[in-house]
Amino acid sequence: MTNKKNILIIGAGLCGSLLALRMAQRGFEVTLVEKRPDLRKITQDAGRSINLALSDRGLRGLRLAGVEEQAKKQCIPMNGRMIHDKAGNTFLSPYSGRKDEYINSISRPGLNMLLLDEAEKLPNVQLIFNHACEDVDLENASATFKDFNSKKEITITADVIFGTDGAGSVVRKSMFDSHKFLFSFSQQWLSHGYKELEIPATENGGYRTYKNALHIWPRGEDMLIALPNLDGSFTVTLFLPYENSDYCFANLTTPEMVHEYFNKEFPDVVEMIPNLSEEFFNNPTGPLGTVKCSPWNAYNKVLLLGDAAHAIVPFYGQGMNASFEDVVVFDEILENYNSEEKKDWSKIFKEYENIRKKDTDAIADLAVDNFHEMKEHTAMEIFQKKRKLETAFEAEFPQDYYSKYSLVTFKESIPYSEAMKRGRAQDKAILNLLDDGKITEKMSLKDKLELVKKETEAILHDNEVAFG
Ligand SMILES: Cc1cc2nc3c(=O)[nH]c(=O)nc-3n(C[C@H](O)[C@H](O)[C@H](O)COP(=O)(O)OP(=O)(O)OC[C@H]3O[C@@H](n4cnc5c(N)ncnc54)[C@H](O)[C@@H]3O)c2cc1C
Repeated sequence: MTNKKNILIIGAGLCGSLLALRMAQRGFEVTLVEKRPDLRKITQDAGRSINLALSDRGLRGLRLAGVEEQAKKQCIPMNGRMIHDKAGNTFLSPYSGRKDEYINSISRPGLNMLLLDEAEKLPNVQLIFNHACEDVDLENASATFKDFNSKKEITITADVIFGTDGAGSVVRKSMFDSHKFLFSFSQQWLSHGYKELEIPATENGGYRTYKNALHIWPRGEDMLIALPNLDGSFTVTLFLPYENSDYCFANLTTPEMVHEYFNKEFPDVVEMIPNLSEEFFNNPTGPLGTVKCSPWNAYNKVLLLGDAAHAIVPFYGQGMNASFEDVVVFDEILENYNSEEKKDWSKIFKEYENIRKKDTDAIADLAVDNFHEMKEHTAMEIFQKKRKLETAFEAEFPQDYYSKYSLVTFKESIPYSEAMKRGRAQDKAILNLLDDGKITEKMSLKDKLELVKKETEAILHDNEVAFG
């Protein structure tokens, strides 16, 4: 592979910026084009996903590009879920029994700026903002952009194009519209949307509730979560049905109704959000969906990565992490073909999709599972017992047991598809054993673990026989 290849990356969000940085570090000539203004110069997107949970798979991507330590300076560790009931009682459910396993709250724009700054330092990266991709000529690897300022169109041709233009990808749409090859596409919307609100810092810059947790107010059908920011504020996200519910976006139409709903469901939050109804009506309501498609590659000239290839609902906090892991997996494959005689984008793109697709399908499904777990199960006794047991296993036998959450979030050496298979079997095993009363107080923790392992292996075996 020659280092002189011209790479065009469409979309300078989280995935595109990391990919640009990494490809430039490998010596490619990179042009990164973004439809929005440069977020380092203009503040944008009030009310939309301000902070994110960054965990091990994402950190691995940042490490690959040499920016992990800088990113960590922007992070606030979150050690567990702080569950808030209606009476205002709270309890902390740790994410893991191992002390060094936690997730991090990080600012989306802060992280994006860091990646853009690092990419811009390299002489072989060109950044272009305010240019929206309108169409991609897949066979000739060229893309047309509209300049927001001049309103003129420009066309950029490259050796290969990467589509990292997010969930509503125009690059993906060009594949869908091409009709020259079989392109499968599905988009599944949740019946819930989301809206972001803010718990501001106290007057002296302090936090109004416990800093180092992801806060959850689970209410069965709907849910509120909050992640801390460095300035003492929390970004709060409300997940609520669009319609067909006592309280839903369709009927929360007046400040009185918004207050009635929050007073009933989240009374302890009301006092922490002084401008509740203003924020509720000023901030946009966003939809939540899963996008799956294949192939990700067109004519061995264009490849989709990140949300453009696999948008997922945010309930495992893995969309960005998975997108960063895409860059890691792609980079490993690139490394194997990193010589002139082996250069072959067709092999690289196909191998990438063969390895990666099953894993992004898995995290998409796990994220939907976690939607139900967060809004309903976190408040149910049997699930709380299960979490307690798993945390005790992890604390006492750190090498022997990883919960589904830990496998997905902290064990980046295991692909998502494996984490899903094992994690689901473990969940089923523990819930069955608890429900059947087979795990008793008298048993030692070691005996409980052996029983769970035995039951898990039996379930995995049955699944293998039934589904291969
Ligand atoms: C409410 C919410 C909470 C989330 N929380 C988490 C979390 O806690 N942890 C986590 O890991 N993930 C989370 N995610 C998912 C995460 O935001 C995405 O997976 C991640 O942003 C994907 O990165 P991306 O670069 O592929 O796409 P994006 O970040 O969407 O970036 C795409 C970029 O392409 C640009 N673009 C779009 N169209 C064009 C065009 N036509 N031409 C040029 N440029 C274009 C966009 O302006 C944007 O800059 C959350 C998502 C939501 C909605």
